[in-house]
Amino acid sequence: MGKREELVSKLRGTPEGLPSVEEVRAMLASDPELKCVVCYARISFDGRVKDAHGVEDQHRDMTETARRFGWLVVYRYTDNDKSASKENIVRDDFEQLLADLAAGTTPDGYPIHGVMAVNDDRLYRRPSDWERYLKAFTTQEGRVYHDSNGIQDLYAEGFEIKGLLGVAMSLSETRKKERRSRNSHRSRAIRGQSVAAWRPFGWEDDKVSLRPDEAEAIRQAVKDVIAGASISEITRRWKEAGFITSRGNAFQYQTVKQVLVNARLCGYREIKGELVRDGDDQPIVGEWEPIITPKEWFAVTAKIRERGRGTGMPRGGLVHKYLLTGILRCGHVLEDGTVCNNKMIGIKANDWLKYRHAYMCKKTVDGGCNKTYKRGDKTDKAIEELVIAKLERDAASKAQDVPDWDKADALERAVRSRNELERRWHDDEDTDIDDETFFRNLPVLERRIKELRADQRAHEALKAEAEEAKEDVRNAWGSKTLTQKREAIKKVLSAVIAVPGGKGNKTFDPELLKPVWRTSE
Ligand SMILES: [Zn+2]
Repeated sequence: MGKREELVSKLRGTPEGLPSVEEVRAMLASDPELKCVVCYARISFDGRVKDAHGVEDQHRDMTETARRFGWLVVYRYTDNDKSASKENIVRDDFEQLLADLAAGTTPDGYPIHGVMAVNDDRLYRRPSDWERYLKAFTTQEGRVYHDSNGIQDLYAEGFEIKGLLGVAMSLSETRKKERRSRNSHRSRAIRGQSVAAWRPFGWEDDKVSLRPDEAEAIRQAVKDVIAGASISEITRRWKEAGFITSRGNAFQYQTVKQVLVNARLCGYREIKGELVRDGDDQPIVGEWEPIITPKEWFAVTAKIRERGRGTGMPRGGLVHKYLLTGILRCGHVLEDGTVCNNKMIGIKANDWLKYRHAYMCKKTVDGGCNKTYKRGDKTDKAIEELVIAKLERDAASKAQDVPDWDKADALERAVRSRNELERRWHDDEDTDIDDETFFRNLPVLERRIKELRADQRAHEALKAEAEEAKEDVRNAWGSKTLTQKREAIKKVLSAVIAVPGGKGNKTFDPELLKPVWRTSE
């Protein structure tokens, strides 16, 4: 036996001086916190004695860490990677570890409550090794796992972590650290605790109770966005009101959007845009006070998604200053008998006038005829009255209830099927669900669930809108922002033709405004 093998063999098996199995069992009975762990180390390269000392270091580090946690090291597995060479006398301890994990005890009969490794790349050489390891590890509940990234919950993300995705070997140290922080986020999130590093806008520093003025601003913004207000408009309004983000920055389009689509608003917890759900697939409800109802949250996110078309960017980004720009068209009859029909522009009225803005046909150099001019206040008022009257007629005719979502059963069935598939796959007794069957069926069910959830969101949005429509149209109109009004006008009117009133300072005649209604579908 070479020097290296000698060293390695000393680093394998039950550590010297460990109490007997009976004694350890007695210790466990009196101290339920105590955990019996096993350590795994591997020599990575050739037969240099130095490498064997490396393994000695690995085991010493792990033993010290175990002592710090109050764990008892009951077995040491050490693989000598020179396994291909003839002089190899060390059997594959990794295989032994898997067998022992599955059996629940070390070769000498000590229970195994956890595994320690210096690095998880010490534990496996191929992705399938990691997969097999996880399977053996999770045959018992409540085991602990510790490596250079600290204690990690192999049950939480378990199989999804890496082995099955085949990316195990490529994970960099940074990625592992990210995952670790994500894991701890996730377990806290599952408990419904706040994981935000900063105070979320709308809440106090305790991240639980509401900051009234911010919460109210959010509540109003959600209401307005559902009714058609743009995020740019909310951004401007929040800036004007002097709100800043909890990090002390001015609000931007993106930060306002992030605030409004966050499930936290309705008390739900989400990670990376996905709701965190419990075992029954119900969203986890946080311990903080909600600002809006889940229904409102569904409606506002659906609205924002639909408008942004998933790009997350404002569409157009242009905030109009006047109600009817782009809607009013010049009705002046040109010399050749055709109508000018140019889109009129909004302008600031001259200082000496009683009204603040006006609409006019562009100058001839800009392609207009410059013949039509309308005072802004009366024009706006006249068109608003027309639209309100039209909306009132519409609301009366479509005030009937949107029926309840009729696919709740289908969603429940799909979720149940997926859970059942997972359960059976995890269940070793159930031999008809092998990995291949599992992964062939899982995406189908996942896609189905995703589609149904999208459908559910769309339906909730529709319902919220219908309820909104039933409210008193005129009052609702009064509280609309400019953008909301423009949206509403453009929904029912394709244009308004403004016929010029002739020369001189004539009184305003609403009859000279000719609405072009959209034919209702
Ligand atoms: Zn014109």
